[in-house]
Amino acid sequence: MAGEPQADCLFCKIVAGEVPATVVRDTETTLAFRDINPQAPTHVLVIPKAHYADAAALAAAAPQITADVLREAGEVAAQEKIAVAEGGPGTGYRVVFNTGTGAGQTVFHAHAHVLGGRGLNWPPG
Ligand code: C5P
Repeated sequence: MAGEPQADCLFCKIVAGEVPATVVRDTETTLAFRDINPQAPTHVLVIPKAHYADAAALAAAAPQITADVLREAGEVAAQEKIAVAEGGPGTGYRVVFNTGTGAGQTVFHAHAHVLGGRGLNWPPG
């Protein structure tokens, strides 16, 4: 059922503490941890603690938690000193929800990638 922990879900296991992760922020509804295969100097994943398969399912079922994830993405950026408000060259960051295998989604528990600390090209690959 949407929102319920899934036994075969890697990110549900991270939320449960059964798989280790380097946690950078922890709230009632969200968890933020460093990506094990970072694509930028800062690469943090922000996930809802409840299980939703992707960002669309999360937004449809739980708009407040969706807002929590986006707020936490901004808090991660501030904590990592890549937020625009920090100023200076190299600041600014990207929040990405890969949605579907064709877009590169490999873990089917909604997650926002927060990327920054280097120049980011557009369009993305
Ligand atoms: O968007 P996508 O589904 O591909 O993102 C999943 C991310 O989860 C990858 O960037 C991968 O490196 C990361 N990951 C992780 N810790 C794990 C397994 C995967 O940070 N134990």
